[in-house]
Amino acid sequence: MLIGIDDTDSDAGMCTTYLAALLADELKAFGTVDGFPYLIRLNPTVPYKTRGNAALGLSVSLFDETPETKREIITLVADKIHEYADLSCEKTNPGAVFIFSGSYNSLRRPLGAVFKKAVTDVIEIEEAAALLNQFEAEFPEDIFHFSLKNGRGLIGSLAACGAVLSGSRDSTFEYLAYRLPKNWGSCGGPPRFVDFESLISADRNTAPETWDTVDYDKKTKPFPVCVPRGNDPVLFGIRGESPEAVQKAAESVISEEIERFQIFQTNQGTDAHLIFTDSVLEMRPLHSYILEGTVCSKAETTEGGHDIFKLKDSGGALLECAAYEPTGNFRHVIRELIPGDKIRVYGSFKKETLNLEKIKILKLAGDFKLENPACSNCGKRMESAGGGQGFRCKKCKTTAADKIKTPVPRKIRAGYYEVPPSARRHLSKPLIRYSKEALEF
Ligand code: ATP
Repeated sequence: MLIGIDDTDSDAGMCTTYLAALLADELKAFGTVDGFPYLIRLNPTVPYKTRGNAALGLSVSLFDETPETKREIITLVADKIHEYADLSCEKTNPGAVFIFSGSYNSLRRPLGAVFKKAVTDVIEIEEAAALLNQFEAEFPEDIFHFSLKNGRGLIGSLAACGAVLSGSRDSTFEYLAYRLPKNWGSCGGPPRFVDFESLISADRNTAPETWDTVDYDKKTKPFPVCVPRGNDPVLFGIRGESPEAVQKAAESVISEEIERFQIFQTNQGTDAHLIFTDSVLEMRPLHSYILEGTVCSKAETTEGGHDIFKLKDSGGALLECAAYEPTGNFRHVIRELIPGDKIRVYGSFKKETLNLEKIKILKLAGDFKLENPACSNCGKRMESAGGGQGFRCKKCKTTAADKIKTPVPRKIRAGYYEVPPSARRHLSKPLIRYSKEALEF
């Protein structure tokens, strides 16, 4: 059977991944939890999200599928949601979906479509509710749902049930360590203790098989990206290519006592949210894109430190692209782009602007500066001979009509550039995951 859960957390505390980790333990009474629970990231631009727009999925091979077992499992999940969800927060609208084996084969495709849409597009709550009604009418004994408040979490829950990360699909892993409940920020617990030096060695010992543990981009000192700062139960999270890699890194982390840990299989770091397009005119708000174009204005830096430039697609339509202040040194690259550079941009389209996650410089334009010509006799720079009268060398009496174009070496090279780990979207594929060939072409 499959269980999808979503939307139990708030800015004040909790994390739906914790609930999934608890359930992964308690469901062992009913069967075997298959593989790793799924930590699915959905469309990063949806306004309803608390933090990273996550939904959770569990697949369980049950010892039996009697109506009593089904009822007990649904009751267990509903009780845990009641116990842990932060229902006082307006944005917390929990949902859970239960798919038993009798309906799975028939629902695989439509659920897969919901998953794809939830990652790349926006789904209205009415659409999710209508789908559930339809599925439940067709399989009254094999699909159930549970929701509280407006039930928006059913969108993510359905999507988590439709997620497939096995086979040829790209996926990654995350090891999440959870604090003792008495230490949670929401219970007035102390600040997190995770030894920073141990994080640096965990990173050095396992990269490139793990990533985004430490951000070395910060000017002042490296920053532990894998340790959250909110009131939620997560102590730290290690992301990587395999369960073995994240486990190895996590084992060398020195920290306060943990209550439990869970390794999740996830679509993080896969670029699954990005849609290829060749036209700015096709872009819709709250969607994320990959587009090639030509830079047509140098970046302007706003007061808040954001860098914004214009890109032209092959049809001549213009797109505003932004590297926001938190993207740190990435902005230095953006400031070096000049009109004529051919680039590919990756990012989310919001408020008529593409919020850059990474770029690939395909071809750099030649950069030139205009200088007074040099005297053909003494080699010194000529001076202006007065408005519209060209240039002359006072000493040698030589003259020239026009300024000359001198090439200026570019400070950037063709290739990929990405935002630093602390500014990276969960779904963005970090360059550390690219093969050598992919980085070159
Ligand atoms: P955290 O990262 O801390 O787990 P969160 O960022 O996952 O929190 P949620 O509390 O789950 O945020 O809220 C996101 C809400 O948006 C959920 O109710 C989910 O069902 C809904 N949602 C997710 N994807 C979409 C989508 N593509 N279209 C519309 N609603 C969506």
